[in-house]
Amino acid sequence: MIFREGDPPTCAYLIDAGRVEVATEQGGKRLVLSYLGPGDLLGEMAMIDDAPRSAEARALTEVVAIEIRRDQIQERLQEADPILRSLVLGLLQRYRSGLNTLRGRARAPAVNTGPVLTPPPAANKFKLESQLIEALENDALGVLFQPVYDVRSGRVVGFEALTRWHHPERGPISPAEFIALAEETSLIVPVGQYALRKACEALTGLDSAAHRALWIGVNVSARQLAVPDFVDLLLERAERQGVDPTRIKLEITESLTLDYKHVAAMIQRCHAAGLQVALDDFGTGYSSLGHLHQLHFDVVKIDQALTRSMFDDPRSGALMNAIIATIHAIGAEAVVEGVERLEQARELAQRGVRYLQGWLIGKPAPVDELGAIADRVRVTLD
Ligand code: C2E
Ligand code: CA
Ligand code: CA
Repeated sequence: MIFREGDPPTCAYLIDAGRVEVATEQGGKRLVLSYLGPGDLLGEMAMIDDAPRSAEARALTEVVAIEIRRDQIQERLQEADPILRSLVLGLLQRYRSGLNTLRGRARAPAVNTGPVLTPPPAANKFKLESQLIEALENDALGVLFQPVYDVRSGRVVGFEALTRWHHPERGPISPAEFIALAEETSLIVPVGQYALRKACEALTGLDSAAHRALWIGVNVSARQLAVPDFVDLLLERAERQGVDPTRIKLEITESLTLDYKHVAAMIQRCHAAGLQVALDDFGTGYSSLGHLHQLHFDVVKIDQALTRSMFDDPRSGALMNAIIATIHAIGAEAVVEGVERLEQARELAQRGVRYLQGWLIGKPAPVDELGAIADRVRVTLD
């Protein structure tokens, strides 16, 4: 006997050799639930929800098994995606109550007429995700465009496309929340396609001689890069919408998951088609020098966290200088984000930064205002 029904859970087992019978009792009769053999896990259910053993396990032959400690399972479960964790626990609960009903120890569950409890976080996340899918299908997302200023020409030279979601009940939801949610699954792929489509539409509207050189930067998540032929599909879309693809710039956020070989091939393909690629959010997070020397980014965008602290903290100021110098040394252009005050813009221009983005230049704006922003925005930097 390996364990009996009702025993407190101590550990699980990985069967290495031999056969095990898992059985319970129903109306005085033995009911075999399963036969297990090499490679199978035994007794893991009790490790997941800490309930007493719900069946007995008996060796049918000589059995060799490896003990699996509770932590080995619990720690992984705690680190898992909360949705996966709640799926596992939910299934286990359903299995246990099904088993009890089968044994005649519990009546079929009554219809719950009590108060509705607050749904667990996983349920909220599922709901939000489904609503995001619906918003995508109904074209209910939006995209705003934030101007980027060229210190050298003293003009707005392009925009960054930023996706917006106005939730029917919650109002505007921050991209920090819904983009992160979309990035957990491949949902980020259609969200990215949506932003790209809107960027192409905006570019077709900016077709006068004065505006034809304006470009739009589109954010691309690491997961989108995994789509085979990502660049070719992008080129196809631009052509379909009658847009010169070289007016599109891609912004890739720094992350540990950037696969060098893959991104390098993608950048090469972009360069062959005349598209520029930027490394986004540099200066916070990972700021890997590996990204800078192994991947040939045309532009590096310095994160607003550094801009915010460059005057308050001499260390940030020094870091800002060093990062600007590094970017220029590898032959890339620097865009500094989060420029809110004139003194920041002046200081950055003096330090040799060519491109500025932030509220000082302009907040993200709807598509019909872009032409006027490009014509009107001027900043006196000296
Ligand atoms: P990001 O790419 O770093 O975009 C810049 C963010 O800084 C935007 O936030 C913008 O509104 C904000 N910002 C710009 N200037 C200033 C300023 O002067 N001061 C302050 N305090 N904030 C400023 P937003 O729109 O909330 O977007 C957050 C992030 O969500 C973006 O960061 C980007 O990583 C992501 N994101 C937005 N749209 C998309 C999309 O279509 N696809 C993907 N993959 N990511 C997106
Ligand atoms: Ca960006
Ligand atoms: Ca950024």
